[in-house]
Amino acid sequence: MVLQSTATVLSNEMLGETIFKIRVEQPAIAREILPGQFAMLRPHGRTDPLLGRPLAMYDVGRSDSGEPTSIDFVYLVQGNGTRALASLGPGDRVDLWGPLGNSFPRHPSNDLKRVLLLAGGIGQTPFLSVAKDLLGQQTYGAPANRQAGETSVSFIWGVRTKSLLAGLNDFQTLGIECHVATDDGSAGHHGRVTDLARQLIERGPRPTAIFSCGPEPMLVAVARLGQECQVPTWVSLETRMACGYGVCFSCVCPVKDSSPAGWDYSRVCLEGPIFRSTAIEWNEIVHQ
Ligand SMILES: Cc1cc2nc3c(=O)[nH]c(=O)nc-3n(C[C@H](O)[C@H](O)[C@H](O)COP(=O)(O)OP(=O)(O)OC[C@H]3O[C@@H](n4cnc5c(N)ncnc54)[C@H](O)[C@@H]3O)c2cc1C
Repeated sequence: MVLQSTATVLSNEMLGETIFKIRVEQPAIAREILPGQFAMLRPHGRTDPLLGRPLAMYDVGRSDSGEPTSIDFVYLVQGNGTRALASLGPGDRVDLWGPLGNSFPRHPSNDLKRVLLLAGGIGQTPFLSVAKDLLGQQTYGAPANRQAGETSVSFIWGVRTKSLLAGLNDFQTLGIECHVATDDGSAGHHGRVTDLARQLIERGPRPTAIFSCGPEPMLVAVARLGQECQVPTWVSLETRMACGYGVCFSCVCPVKDSSPAGWDYSRVCLEGPIFRSTAIEWNEIVHQ
């Protein structure tokens, strides 16, 4: 169930030049939210920006007894909405609604034996909780929502330059294999993250699933990579959206179906943001 609330900011820490981690106290949403889901946030009591901004759940904060109490979001300052969030401090209030959207696949299956998490830009944000969940290091949502399975996880993150790798240590401390790529060669592989992913897939062991989040051109390349390497692939879209709960239809994307056109629009906020890469009619997106 989606909850509309006003929540208190507990901290809003600068992780890098334009990257922040905000922690908001909201136990009811923290108890429910699943890896890959998101919430809409905006500063409380202001009309500019009028619309909330979608941010993926980064992690859930817990009390000493392990009860979910707060939610962390990591965000890149891009424009008006994220700039307004960056100006908040402890004790300030935000309007927060969620949990929104679907989650990444979570139930143990052959597909989830070896999961490759492939992030571009600020697209790493859903993957800390995805990794913890798959590895059984943390539970999210109702305890019965997921049984722990035998899963290995590796993480590949591509950014323009190394200062954008804020929070990489959060992933390294999980004990998973981590690789980075930078466009300018300032850290890790010099070049495209999808080229690095292809090298690692070809070297083996082969992943049984790819989960990806990042800018659209990267996701087009990831969808192609998944198809060529025959690895089931899921992508989380970062489409711009207004309401976040399926009413305004501002975030639609073309998804294949059995209609005469072969596809119809789905709402990224409600039916997504996570889709099988083969379900998306990428040609329609690229030509828009
Ligand atoms: C489901 C979902 C989860 C997301 N999770 C995160 C997250 O965890 N952390 C994070 O930093 N961001 C995330 N985003 C993206 C984030 O919502 C946008 O960056 C934010 O809404 C920008 O708002 P703004 O007012 O700061 O920028 P605006 O003033 O709206 O835009 C500033 C500039 O960024 C461009 N821009 C804004 N939004 C997008 C977009 N979605 N795609 C392409 N270009 C865009 C604009 O064209 C403009 O050039 C997510 C998006 C979705 C849909």
